[in-house]
Formats: sequence, C-alpha cells, structure tokens
Amino acid sequence: MQVRHWLRPPRLMLVVFVGVALVSSGALGWLGWLLLAQDAALDVQRRQEALDQAADRAAAAMQRAIADLQSRTSAEPDATVRLPSGVSRLSLAPGVIRVWPEDSLLYYPFPARPPAAPSEAFDRGEQYEFADRDLYLAAREYSRLVRSANPAVRAGALARLARVRRKQHDAGAALVAYEQLSQIRDADVEGLPATLVATVGRASVLEAEGRLSELRREADALRLDLSRGRWRLLKTEYEFYSMQAASWLGMKPTRDANATVRADAVGWLWQKLNSPTPAARDAFALLEGPTLVTWRANQTGLDAVVAEPAFLASLCASAAPSNLRCALSDPEGRTLVGDRPPTRMVATRTAAAAGLPWTLHVSAAPNPIASPPSPRRRLLTLTFGVVGLVLLAGWYFILRAITRELRVSRLQSDFVAAVSHEFRSPLTSMSHIAEMLAHDRFPNDELRRRSFDVLVRDTDRLRRLVEGLLDFGRFEAGAAALRLETVDVAALLRVTVADFQERVAQDGYRIELTGASDAITARADREALARALWNLLDNAVKYSPECRTVWVEMSRQSDQLSIGVQDHGIGIPIAEQGEIFDRFVRGGDSKARRISGTGIGLAMVREIVRAHGGEILLSSEPGRGSRFTVVLRTAGGMA
Ligand code: ADP
Repeated sequence: MQVRHWLRPPRLMLVVFVGVALVSSGALGWLGWLLLAQDAALDVQRRQEALDQAADRAAAAMQRAIADLQSRTSAEPDATVRLPSGVSRLSLAPGVIRVWPEDSLLYYPFPARPPAAPSEAFDRGEQYEFADRDLYLAAREYSRLVRSANPAVRAGALARLARVRRKQHDAGAALVAYEQLSQIRDADVEGLPATLVATVGRASVLEAEGRLSELRREADALRLDLSRGRWRLLKTEYEFYSMQAASWLGMKPTRDANATVRADAVGWLWQKLNSPTPAARDAFALLEGPTLVTWRANQTGLDAVVAEPAFLASLCASAAPSNLRCALSDPEGRTLVGDRPPTRMVATRTAAAAGLPWTLHVSAAPNPIASPPSPRRRLLTLTFGVVGLVLLAGWYFILRAITRELRVSRLQSDFVAAVSHEFRSPLTSMSHIAEMLAHDRFPNDELRRRSFDVLVRDTDRLRRLVEGLLDFGRFEAGAAALRLETVDVAALLRVTVADFQERVAQDGYRIELTGASDAITARADREALARALWNLLDNAVKYSPECRTVWVEMSRQSDQLSIGVQDHGIGIPIAEQGEIFDRFVRGGDSKARRISGTGIGLAMVREIVRAHGGEILLSSEPGRGSRFTVVLRTAGGMA
C-alpha cells in the first residue's frame, strides 16, 4: 500500500524512465559488445590468413634456397665462386677431401700425411738413447741425421734431438731444435705434422722453464692455428691439442659451432661415401646443429654443399616479413632455429607438406607494435560512442525535467496548504464574530464596534488574497494582457504608498517615500504596476518584524526610472536569492518563522516588470535587510 502510494505520478514516471533507460542502455551495451566481439573474431581470422600467406611465401623462399644449394653441387667447384656466407662446398672421393673455402675444416675423417721417415733410420740413435742411456752419443747421432736430404728424416731427427736436449736439461738447445723443426713444412713426425710437434714441444719446454709469457704466446698461436684448420688432424687429435692449448692459456676450450658442425658434416658424408649401400644420387639431410647437407653422387664420390646453423638462421629470418617470427623444428618437434612463442596465432608448414627438411612455424612477433584498430572497428566504436553520448544527454535532460516537475508538484502542494491556511484564519475569526453578533453576545457597544473593525480588516485581507490569486491565475494563463498607457509613475507610487501606509499604520509601520515629488512618466499598466509595488511593500513589512520603517526611493537616470523598496528585516541568503522569484518558492527562513505567505508574490512582480520591458534587481544580506529595485524605461526613452 505504501509502495503504491509512493509510486504515484510523477514518481511513477521517474521509475518507468529509469527502468526504460536501464533496459535500453543494457541492450545497447550488449549489442555493442556482440558487434565488437564479432569484429575481434574477424580480425583474428584476417591475421591468421596473413600468417598463412606469409608461411606459404616463406616455405617457397626456403624451397628456392635449397634448390639453389643443390644446384651448386653440380657446378664445378672453384675457389673464385662466391658461396653464400655459412655455406661450404665439398668434394669427396676415396682418399680425397676438398673443401671450399679452402682450409676451412677443423678436422678430417681420415689422416692424409706425407710419407713418414723409415724408422730404421733412427735405430742407432735410439739404441744410444734408450738402451745405452748415453745421451751424448744419441745427440751426436741425431745431429748427424739432421743434415739428411730427406725432410722426413730431418724432421724425425730434430724431434728426437730436442727430446735428448730436454733430457740433458739444455732448454736452449731443445728450443733451437724445435725452431728448426718448425721450418720443415711437409713432413710428419710419428704421424703428426712436424710444425705441430714443434709448436707443442716448444710450449712444453717453455712451461717446464716457467717462461709463462712466452708460453702464452706459443699457446695462443697453437689455438689460432687449430681454429684455422692449419693441420689436417683427426677429430680426436684436434680436440686433444685444443684442450692442451686452452689449459696453457688457463681457459676453457672454445669452439666455433659453425666450423664444428661443418667438420662433423664432412665426417657424416665420408661415412655415407664409404657405406656399403650406395648414396642416393641427389638428396639432402638435416644433421645436428642444425646443418643442412645436400649432395650429388658422381662416378668417384660425392659433390656436396653444407649449410651451417648461421645460414639456416639467416634463411629463416629473411624468409618471413620483419613483423613476423620464423622458427624451424625437426620432425620430433625440437626447435632448431628461432623461438616458438607460446601463441595460438601461428601458421605451421610440416616438412612433408612443404617439401622441406624441417617444419616451418610463422607466428606474430611476441610484442608486436600495437596495430591500429581496423577502420570498421573504429567506425563501430565511434558510432556506439556517439549513440551513447546522445542517450546520456537525453537521459540527463529528461531526468532534469522530471526532477523539476517533482519539485513543482511539491511546491504546488505546499502552495495549496499555504493558501488554505491563509483563508482559514480570517474565516475563523469572521465566523466567530458573526456568531457573537447573531446571538447578541457583545457586552457593550465599544466591543461591538471593535469587532466590526476586525470584520472590515479580515474582509479586506480576504479580498486582497482572492484578488492576488485571481491576478496570479490570469498571469499564469497568459490572459492578463497589459493595457499600456502613459502613466505618471511618481503619482502612482505616491497613491500606492499612501494606501499601503494607511493599511499598516495601525501595526506601527511607517513608509518613507523620497524622490517621487516630480512627475516621471512611463508606458505602463496602472493596475499591474500598482499590484507589483504593493507586493514589494507587503513583503518589506512582512519580513521586517523588528524595524518598522520601510524606505521607498524613486529616481531617474536618463531614460530609466528606478523604484527601490528597502527594509531592515530578516534578509535573504545568497543561495535563495535566485529562486525566490520562481512561483510557489518560499524562503527557508520565512517558513521556519511561520510567516504567512503563498510564494506567488515575487513571481508576479517579476512577470509584471518583465512585461513592461523592465527588470527587477535584488540585494540582500541575512539579518540586515533587503532592497528590491524595479527598473523601467521612462516614456519617450528607447522602446
Ligand atoms: P511569500 O511572501 O508569500 O512567501 P513571495 O513570492 O512574495 O512569497 O516571496 C518569496 C520569498 O521571498 C518569501 O517566502 C521570503 O522568503 C522571500 N522574501 C520576499 N521579500 C522579502 C523581504 N523583503 N525580506 C526577506 N525575505 C523576503
């Protein structure tokens, strides 16, 4: 029941409006979300298509690169032909391995050494050195062999002489022997290149002698020579001497990954060449590393091309556009090149499908520069933004209108209550006096006469009240057309003030009028203007319970006249000064003090003054009084 009461119009309107606004905004939001989600799905689809196209192009580019590598296996190897970086060309035949770029192998699958010296050449020297332990004779014998014409014998003799000198603790002489040994280029000492034996021997002597800076120089040269593939070594020999050099240098052995996989690929091809099953004529394989090997069998052996990890990495990087990532994986799913970011947006081309030795993955870069929204998406967002704004503005204005309506309806009910109250008190006293008169209850003539005075005053009050309400009603309905004529406003003011003075004199009020002695004319409706002035005077008296003087001042400035009504009453707070001219609005203080009123007086004043083309000004301070000033154009002034 209470709810139903609360929900009476116009509150019901408010509730209905809020409901409609909520439902419509919800529907709009949901629709917007659906459209944006659909647009996002389309965007994902478009990006996936772009990835697929990029993957197809990358696969085609890789196929071309592999075909190019394969074509190089049939071209005649030539040191002048420029190979792409990271690619080496090989030619393998029984007992022969040739590599371009030349000397680029760290180690070889089989040794290829010049013929060693006949071991019986050193028999006598070794007899002295080991059996007789006569180092002097051994040195003499080896020194004799050093003069041999055979470089192999010379190299073997120098290596042995250096060994004997070391046993004799003659480091200087040992170093000289190794120095001479290092000059013999094409000779082997017990299966190792003479120059390698010389370098290692020299380094060992320097280590034993504690000549560390010279040792470091020697070890560094050894490391460099090993990494440049100076000697034709087996893998085990290469690894042993690399570790030896690193330990002299006090560091871990380093190895060039690309060079290592190249050398391993040669080993793998060498096995293929020597395997009982003949190699396929034309094929490629992916080895550890990853290394791509392609080969072609010829009458005697294999022509091959080895592409190292660096080549594959640059192939992968150049095959995909710069805003995408390329990665390669082997059939077991191990990543070979690049990263495979954990993203759903990836285009994969399997080895079998793309005819490649690896599986290709093309994905969006993990942190792509935020791509601008599509024009469609922008348009959608803009449309929803505009519709949302229009709706918001609409709701704002409707809400404002409804709250205003609510306020007016509240003011109206206050007005009805105030009017009823205004009527009730004179009516009560009039009916009381009438009853006394009817029953002739007045004890004497004096009281009877006074009760007639009261009757006259109350009747007058009621008449003014009714007239005021009727005038207000006419103004509200817009029916009160002004009858403008040239009026002496000063005279009108004098008469109104005199009438008003007469009414309030018995309550002790005094109205002081100044500046209205000379005629000041204006185009005005006599009755309406008098009503406005009366209302202002009435308020000045009503709201000035302490100070019983009201000042009315008339003045003229060029084509304007102004009438100021001033009191020293309760005043009006700033916050209320704007709204007291609205109909039915009563000040908080006047309600609190229970000063009677209906809230239509000032609204009428403003209407009347505006209808005359004038304006009403207010200056007031709570507790100090108020001054209302009516400003009108004088007759003959600008219309
Ligand atoms: P009413 O006087 O019947 O309440 P009005 O429209 O004449 O209605 O005045 C509106 C409000 O303006 C009053 O309720 C009062 O608060 C304030 N007011 C008007 N005139 C004065 C005045 N001279 N001094 C103080 N307050 C005033």
